Amino acid sequence: MKKLKISHNDDTCISCGACVTICPEKWQFKEINGELKVINHDKDFIPIESDLSNKAVEAEKACPVNAIGTKIEEES
Ligand code: SF4
Repeated sequence: MKKLKISHNDDTCISCGACVTICPEKWQFKEINGELKVINHDKDFIPIESDLSNKAVEAEKACPVNAIGTKIEEES
């Protein structure tokens, strides 16, 4: 079954929070060593063309530093 897979580049992310606003189901703020960081710890596949996958793609488009990637893959 084809599903959407999300990638998040922690090194590129500037923790602006745009993805958290658009898709809080997949991105959250977390305090790490006294710094507020944005994390995407859920690497699960998302059913394509669902509300959630649409929001994830919207978050990808909104990211100002291209730290988010989405692609359709066969679930393994
Ligand atoms: S939109 Fe991009 S830069 Fe901003 S918090 Fe999300 S991944 Fe990081």
